[in-house]
Amino acid sequence: MNENRDNSIEINKEEFREIGHKLIDDISEFISSIDKKPVTVNESPSQLQSILGNTSLPKNGISATELIPRVTDLLLNHSLFNGHPKFLGYITSSASPIGALADLLAASINPNVGAHILSPMATEIEKQTVQWLAEFIGVSPSYGGILVSGGNMANFTAFLAARTAKSPKSIKEDGLSTISKRLTVYCSKTTHTWIDKAAILFGLGTNSIRWIQTDSSNRMNIEVLEETIKEDIENGLQPFMVIGTAGDVSTGVIDNLKEIATICKAFNLWFHIDGAYGVPAAVLPDYKNLFDGLSEADSIALDPHKWLYSPLEAGCTLVKNPQHLIDTFSSHPEYYNFTSTEGENAQNYYEFGMQNSRGFRALKVWLTLQQVGRNGYQKLISEDIELSQILFDLAKNHPELKAVSQNLSITTFRFVPLNFEGDTDYLNELNEELLNELQTSGELFISNAMVNEMYCLRACIVNFRTSKKDIKEITEIIIREGRKTHSKLSKQKS
Ligand SMILES: *Cc1c(COP(=O)(O)O)cnc(C)c1O
Repeated sequence: MNENRDNSIEINKEEFREIGHKLIDDISEFISSIDKKPVTVNESPSQLQSILGNTSLPKNGISATELIPRVTDLLLNHSLFNGHPKFLGYITSSASPIGALADLLAASINPNVGAHILSPMATEIEKQTVQWLAEFIGVSPSYGGILVSGGNMANFTAFLAARTAKSPKSIKEDGLSTISKRLTVYCSKTTHTWIDKAAILFGLGTNSIRWIQTDSSNRMNIEVLEETIKEDIENGLQPFMVIGTAGDVSTGVIDNLKEIATICKAFNLWFHIDGAYGVPAAVLPDYKNLFDGLSEADSIALDPHKWLYSPLEAGCTLVKNPQHLIDTFSSHPEYYNFTSTEGENAQNYYEFGMQNSRGFRALKVWLTLQQVGRNGYQKLISEDIELSQILFDLAKNHPELKAVSQNLSITTFRFVPLNFEGDTDYLNELNEELLNELQTSGELFISNAMVNEMYCLRACIVNFRTSKKDIKEITEIIIREGRKTHSKLSKQKS
């Protein structure tokens, strides 16, 4: 080895500049022309594998100057672009370009945001980001929390805090097995699948979930909730948590949070709100009342990588009393020397959640929040909602479309052939077939939802690039493809 180490991983200054400039040029070109590209090129796994090449791990290194253009080409030409203006599938937003710059900078500094001493400014930025998120949705600044990888993790983190808070103190040493009364959790039928995963992973089992039926507006039926809790207590169970959904994934409906809060108070239960999709809409003065009760939640899950347009991955758990997170997640091994800095209490994020070493995912959220500002977000979010309403109206007024539901920025609808006299089974099949055609066409991307047993097409607009023109074109494409699919399918059937 030489006196000065010369190695294959460092990139010298000139080379880094050259590759970096070229990469930024390619990315800016990509962003500015994303609407001209197909949403997806729809290649099969085997096609992709052959494009990628079936080579084994390189024995000798390849220069970055060669690698970066190669992978840029692979990704720019063989990806699905959720930043495309006609991508309205699932709940996946277009990503703020400043978030891409943030990730580059974050990776360059590479702070480990598990401990303050390892990430001094990054930890403070994350704390400020969490505070701003609480402020954004309008809850008290006393809420604290942590950024996690997404909605599932944000909900899991809250679930575990609730479990610790509402179980006997011995749970940390003895686990669930010694708890004499079975812990039970309450949520509406529309709750996202994270709750199944949480019940399975964290030792409760799915039979501990009480799926409360919904009323005619698709919100949790509060009377049934209360009766079920009472019955369970009589039967020797231990209710500990109720989950309200603020924007359900299928149709965007928000539970009656205020009434759930009242029940939680009456029975001393943890009140959690899953706002992964919808809670950013609380920033709109006109929508604030829909979220009445939000500030009574013990915990709230939100997802900056959805309606705050952060690049993946960014979720957030907010907890009214953040001490519950420390009670749940903190442990102090001997080899950690992370206590205090000059007498002040430094916040160590490893004590707030499941991760130990943590990346700087806060930076992209922090920067986007500032670039857009509260007013900017009010405009973007209300325009997404308006576009969703325009889509609903177009569907309502077109003889070959049936508008089904519209809440927040989610519209569900279906294609119905002119003078149709067949049965619902056929319509379900037709719309499913149509969706498959649309998703692979590359012209647009939407997803599906079952609403009152109807298979529906579903558009969720969390996309700052979508315009009125896109919405009109999308309905035209759907009608054109719907006719084709119907003609093909009805021939097969006859
Ligand atoms: C998206 C979503 C989740 C899951 O979030 P991920 O970021 O995909 O992990 C959970 N709950 C609701 C209501 C959601 O919309």
